[in-house]
Amino acid sequence: RRPDIGFIGLGRMGGPMAALLARAGHGVRGFDISAAARDRLAAAGGTPVASPGEAVAPIVILMLPDSAAVDSVVRSGAFAAALRPGTLIIDMSSSEPTATRALAGDLAKREIRLADAPVSGGVRGAEAGRLTIMVGAGADDFPAVADCLAPLGKVIHAGGVGAGHAVKALNNLLSATHLLVTSEAMAAGIRFGLSPEVMLAIFNASSGKSGSTENKWPNFILTERYDSGFAFNLMVKDMTIATRLARHLGTGMALGERAVGLWEAARAALPPDADHTEIARWTLDDGDG
Ligand code: NAD
Repeated sequence: RRPDIGFIGLGRMGGPMAALLARAGHGVRGFDISAAARDRLAAAGGTPVASPGEAVAPIVILMLPDSAAVDSVVRSGAFAAALRPGTLIIDMSSSEPTATRALAGDLAKREIRLADAPVSGGVRGAEAGRLTIMVGAGADDFPAVADCLAPLGKVIHAGGVGAGHAVKALNNLLSATHLLVTSEAMAAGIRFGLSPEVMLAIFNASSGKSGSTENKWPNFILTERYDSGFAFNLMVKDMTIATRLARHLGTGMALGERAVGLWEAARAALPPDADHTEIARWTLDDGDG
């Protein structure tokens, strides 16, 4: 039997990830503020616990919405009190890299280790153990992180603490901008009389292809399902982390800032729980015209 792992945040991503770790032979002590999420962990072979403090184990994984949620769990209450020197916390949420570095510095004073390991691949990737996992960790901590996360997908060492969170935000800025401009191009082509399927087939055999033309448009938009499982709000959060980082570093991000503005405008017009693929519906409905 493999060692016990604590897992906090059993949502659309964390739920299937915790289930895979239980299937790989770990005892998984999982907490979420949602009782339904805790019940799903029990059904998947894990052990739900009633408070974050009870989820503390030698390795604790976090899969929470953002840095504010991570800070609220790690910096206070029974969880913070239960942490011991040597504990390894792996934050797999898409958090803010500067907040991650600050948290790592504070935890290091108590000899508690923090690594960041955000992911790409969506809910389907989480269910199949086919995520791309981008790790920010010192060379001493990386082997333990890679060993623990191997059942979840392909583990890549991005750099020191915070590097995973930085590259994840930049990836999602690219992904969100691709999706928006793809949707603008599709709207124009459809208005011109082109078939959307033919357009996608041509883009996918040409230089305009991206995850938006290969996956998001055919699977979630043309089907009118809009159910990728990645929330609109979380995508805007990630794009904003990227542009804020660029501003902080003094590098230009004019197009990225414009894309955030358009996503913000769409968000104001969509329901609060919209899927991020709804940016295409908004664009097709002349939202950004
Ligand atoms: P989600 O909203 O489905 O899950 C978040 C879970 O955290 C929820 O179950 C919620 O109840 C729980 N939670 C919130 N605050 C908590 C707290 N203080 N204590 C305990 N539990 C708490 O979101 P998700 O889609 O699973 O995303 C999680 C993270 O992964 C986010 O940072 C997101 O940006 C990132 N991400 C999501 C996807 C995707 O396709 N959904 C892909 C890659 C990365």
